[in-house]
Amino acid sequence: MNATPRGSHVPVVADARPEAVSGPVVGVLAVQGDVREHVAVLHRLGARVVLVRRPAELDQVEALVLPGGESTAIDRLVRAFDLQAPLRRRIAAGLPVLGSCAGMILLADRLVEPAAGQQTLGGIDMTVRRNGFGRQVDSFETDLEPVGLPGPPVHAVFIRAPVAVEVGPEVDVLATVPDPVGGGDTIVAVRQGVLLATAFHPEVSGDDRFHRLLLELVEQAGGRSGPS
Ligand code: GLN
Repeated sequence: MNATPRGSHVPVVADARPEAVSGPVVGVLAVQGDVREHVAVLHRLGARVVLVRRPAELDQVEALVLPGGESTAIDRLVRAFDLQAPLRRRIAAGLPVLGSCAGMILLADRLVEPAAGQQTLGGIDMTVRRNGFGRQVDSFETDLEPVGLPGPPVHAVFIRAPVAVEVGPEVDVLATVPDPVGGGDTIVAVRQGVLLATAFHPEVSGDDRFHRLLLELVEQAGGRSGPS
């Protein structure tokens, strides 16, 4: 866990692979949560990774991952580190972002029954319910076939995962699972433009297709949302 910003000489480019210097610069919000797993996937894909704990680090990135963890803690730390306004600004300006689990919560424009005082960054026109699968089935794994991700099913790991209970017209639903209560399906992966959100943890299953999609979105954005 990385709850405290460290000294200014800490290298911000946490790249273990010098040969990867040509990849896009991808930030991982590193205030709390499963930062390391996302860094590992991004390094495997040849990205340069910046751990984002301060606005100056955010300025360097061409895309961002919001990891899973505890959304209330991440929200509090984001505000304590003066990152909320810059994050909202970059997201509104077209920064490609992948949010997983707590990261999906952070990307939601609206929450059902947020914790007291809890805020999100927003960006995706959706209403999200935290811990959407309840206590009985709070963690589970299943196979999904997300829209637009060719290949074998994605093995999805859900850990006290949120669900999207309502999405706006600009939002593409990428994956659903059967609703744990009642019939129908519940939304667990969405895309709105360059913003991607998954209720599960693509970084822990060894399947890098969501991270690849994020890197493709950087290319498509063509630097328009590049470092400020
Ligand atoms: N339930 C957590 C929250 O509300 C998210 C869980 C996760 O990221 N694995 O933030």
